[in-house]
Amino acid sequence: MESASLKGRAIVFALCAGAVVFILALLATSHGQLSADTMGRALIPAIVCSVLSWAAAERSVASTAAAIDSAIARIAKAAHGDLDSPIPEDIGAAVPHLAEAMHGLFQQVAANLDSVHRLAMFDPVTALPNRTHFRRSAERQLAEMPIGQIAALLFIDLDRFKAVNDTMGHATGDMLLGMVANRLRAVADSVSIDEVSDKPLIGRLAGDEFTMFFPRLDDAREATRIGRGVLFALTEPFDIAGAEIEIGASIGIAMRPGHGTTLHDLMRAADAAMYHAKATGRGRAEHFSEELAAELADRAQLEIDLRTAVDRDQFTLVYQPQVSLTDGRIVAAEALLRWQHPTDGVKLPGSFLPRAEETGLIVEIGEWVAARVTETIRRWADLGVEQRLAINISQRQLDHAMFFRRLREAMLAADAPARLLELEITETLAMHCSEDVIEAIAALRADGATIAIDDYGTGHSSLSRLRQLPIDRIKLDRSLVEHVATRREARLIAQSVIGLIHGLGCEAVAEGIEQDDQAEMLRVIGCDVIQGYAVAQPMDEQAFLAWSRNATGPRGKAVVSVR
Ligand code: C2E
Ligand code: MG
Ligand code: MG
Repeated sequence: MESASLKGRAIVFALCAGAVVFILALLATSHGQLSADTMGRALIPAIVCSVLSWAAAERSVASTAAAIDSAIARIAKAAHGDLDSPIPEDIGAAVPHLAEAMHGLFQQVAANLDSVHRLAMFDPVTALPNRTHFRRSAERQLAEMPIGQIAALLFIDLDRFKAVNDTMGHATGDMLLGMVANRLRAVADSVSIDEVSDKPLIGRLAGDEFTMFFPRLDDAREATRIGRGVLFALTEPFDIAGAEIEIGASIGIAMRPGHGTTLHDLMRAADAAMYHAKATGRGRAEHFSEELAAELADRAQLEIDLRTAVDRDQFTLVYQPQVSLTDGRIVAAEALLRWQHPTDGVKLPGSFLPRAEETGLIVEIGEWVAARVTETIRRWADLGVEQRLAINISQRQLDHAMFFRRLREAMLAADAPARLLELEITETLAMHCSEDVIEAIAALRADGATIAIDDYGTGHSSLSRLRQLPIDRIKLDRSLVEHVATRREARLIAQSVIGLIHGLGCEAVAEGIEQDDQAEMLRVIGCDVIQGYAVAQPMDEQAFLAWSRNATGPRGKAVVSVR
C-alpha cells in the first residue's frame, strides 16, 4: 500500500518536473516561434527529466530497473523521430503510469508536429503549397530532370482581384482565392500524366499570384493549351453568396530547357512574360521570348545608365514659354528635362522617365530639377528677368515623404520666392493624391506658388474633386485642342472645357499648340494662355533668355499678335 502511494507520488513528481522542464525548455528555445525543431528540442529534456526524476524516486524498487532501461531506450528512439512504435510492454507491466504518460506525450507531440508541418508548408487560405514548399518541390524535380526533358512554369496573376477584395471584403476575397485554387487543381488534373512524378505542382506565391509547374510536357504547344485552359477556367464567373464575380487572369509561361533549367531562371522568365501579358491588355497567356529577353536586358541597362546619369550630372533642362492670349506676354515657362546621353545624344523624358519612376530614381532626378529650377529663378531674377518657372512632379516624388521639405529647402537655399515657382501635377495624380499631399500643396500655394493640373483630358476627373483642390490653372492636353481649328465638335468640346475651368475659378492653358489658326481659335473661344511650337520650341537657358528678350522687348512687346 505504502509502496503504491510512493510510486504514485513519484510519477506525479516526475511528470510535474518534466512538464516544468518542457515549458522552460520551450521558452528558452522558442523566442516566440514554435517550430517542429523547437518542440523536439524541448520534449527530449522534459522526458529525460521525467524519467530521471521518477527513477531517482523509485530506485529502491529493483524490479523497475529493466523497465527504466527500456523507457530510456524508447525515449531515445522518440528523440530520433519515432513517435509511432508502441511503448514496450515491460514498461506498462512494471510502471503503467509511466507507459501511459509516455504514450500520451508521444501522441500529443506527433499531433503538434503535424500541424506545425502543415502551417510551414501550406497556404491556409487555399490549402495549396506555399512559396517555400512550392520552390523546394520544383527545385528538387528540376535538379533531378534529364537534360532534354520539357517542362513548363506558369506564373498566374489574377486581373481584378484587388477590386473584389477592396469592395467585397477580405472574407469574400479569401473565398474567391479558395475557388481559384480549386479551378487550378481541376486544370492540373485534366493534364494526362504517365507517372506520379510527372504530376503538376500548384502553389500560391503571395496575394493573388499563383504558379503551376508541369514537369513533363510534349512541347511548348501543350503549355499554350494549358495556359488557355487556365484562362478559360478563371474567366468563368465565380458564384459567391449569390453574387457573380468576374475576375480573369494574366499568365506568363516559361519553358524548360529553352528559357532556363533552374527555378530561378524559369521564374524570372515567367514573371517577365506575365508582366508583358498584363501590359498588353490582360486576360492573356504569353510565352517568354527572345524579344522579351532583349527588352529585359535593355531595361536593366537603362537602369544602370540612369544611375550613372544621376552620378555624372548628365541631365539638363530646357524651357518652353507660355504666352497670354489676351495681351501676348510671356506669363511663365515650363522646365522640361533632357538627358545628354554620352552615346545616344539628347534623350526625351518619354524614353527614360517611366523607368526612372519604376526604379524610384525619379526622386533623385526630381530633387535635381527642383534645385536647378530654384537656382535658375534666382539667377534670372538677378539679371532682371522675373520669370515664373513650372516644374513637373511625378507620382513617386509626391509619395516621397521628404518631397515638400526638400523643395522648400531648395527654395530657401536659392533664395527663390514661391511666387516665381509653379508645380505641374498630372490630372490622374491629382485625382488620387492623399489628404496630406493636398495640405502640403495648399501650404505652398498659400506662400505664393502657382499650382497647375497638367495633361487635363487624359485621365478621369471628378469635378467635385477638382473643385476641392488648391489649384490655379488647368492645362488642356494636346489631344483635347489638336483639331480645334478644323473640327466643329472639337471646338465645342474645348469651349465647354474652358468654360468649366473658368467656372472653377482657374486659368485655362492649352498645350501642344503647333498652328497659328489653333492659337487664334483658342483665343476666340476664351482660352487664356497657350504653350507650343507655334510660340516656341523648348530652348536651353541662353536661347530662352535671348528669345524672351527679343519677344518682349524693353517694355514688354507682345509675343503673339492679339487681334
Ligand atoms: P508635359 O508636362 O505635358 O510637357 C509638354 C510636352 O509637350 C513636352 O514634351 C514638350 O516638349 C511637348 N510639346 C511642347 N509643345 C509641343 C507642340 O507644339 N507639339 C507637340 N507635339 N509637343 C509639344 P517632353 O519635353 O518630351 O516631356 C514629356 C513629358 O515628360 C512632360 O509632359 C512631362 O510629363 C514629363 N516631364 C518632362 N520633364 C519632367 C521633369 O522634370 N520631371 C517630371 N516628373 N516629368 C517631366
Ligand atoms: Mg507639364
Ligand atoms: Mg502636359
